[in-house]
Amino acid sequence: MIRWISDLRRRLAKVFAPVDCRCLGCGRDVFDELGFCPDCLKRVTFNNGKICKRCGVALDGDEDYCGNCAFDKIYFDRAFSPFCYDGVIREAIVAMKFNNLGAYADVLARYLVFEAQRRHLVFDVVTFAPMSKGSLKKRRYNQAQLLAEQFCDILDIRDKLQETIVKIRDTVPQERLSRTERKTNLVGSYRLHPKADVKNKSVLLIDDVKTTGATVNECAKVLKNHGATQVVALTVASRKENFIFEQEESV
Ligand SMILES: [Zn+2]
Ligand SMILES: [Zn+2]
Repeated sequence: MIRWISDLRRRLAKVFAPVDCRCLGCGRDVFDELGFCPDCLKRVTFNNGKICKRCGVALDGDEDYCGNCAFDKIYFDRAFSPFCYDGVIREAIVAMKFNNLGAYADVLARYLVFEAQRRHLVFDVVTFAPMSKGSLKKRRYNQAQLLAEQFCDILDIRDKLQETIVKIRDTVPQERLSRTERKTNLVGSYRLHPKADVKNKSVLLIDDVKTTGATVNECAKVLKNHGATQVVALTVASRKENFIFEQEESV
């Protein structure tokens, strides 16, 4: 872990100057490349071990694929995330979404850049998971869009950023549903944006978190159905497979 952190710091320092920001965990002022104070850094779970070869969630066992990817129809080609969805990162993502802390996206986008470079991702278009008009009106910003914009700004590729998908109706948050309900909840909720240009394009789809993967999967389905040659999802965090099963058993 210590070696990973020093390696991470070295790699982030190559791309970024130290950032003067609030710690993503506790809000304390920090000034370094990582965006966490030393205490919170200890509670961050980096997704830096073995991952599912399709959806990128952390795996503990010998398998190459997680349970979801072994049994479900998956439309995205690969998915990656620099963090596991727990501890400090879970709190930071919730804060980014619900506590009007959109500024957290500036720091979290650095990790998306780090992950994209580490995985050698190549793409023609950068896009993001949309919110419905109603939800957007309430929150006033789409955190996935903030992440995608910041990601493109860091890499100086704003010309690749496209709004490609629209969410045409509100849906029940996936966390509140059983595994079976989750599969049907989002079906038919997304459409291609009228101005989208994804035919024969390789698309990078950015979102804040991937739990069941249903959102990125539905978005990828729309993109693939309209001619995208490849869809790779990049999310700040993804939930570990065993956590999903634990949750579902208790539903
Ligand atoms: Zn902290
Ligand atoms: Zn998987």
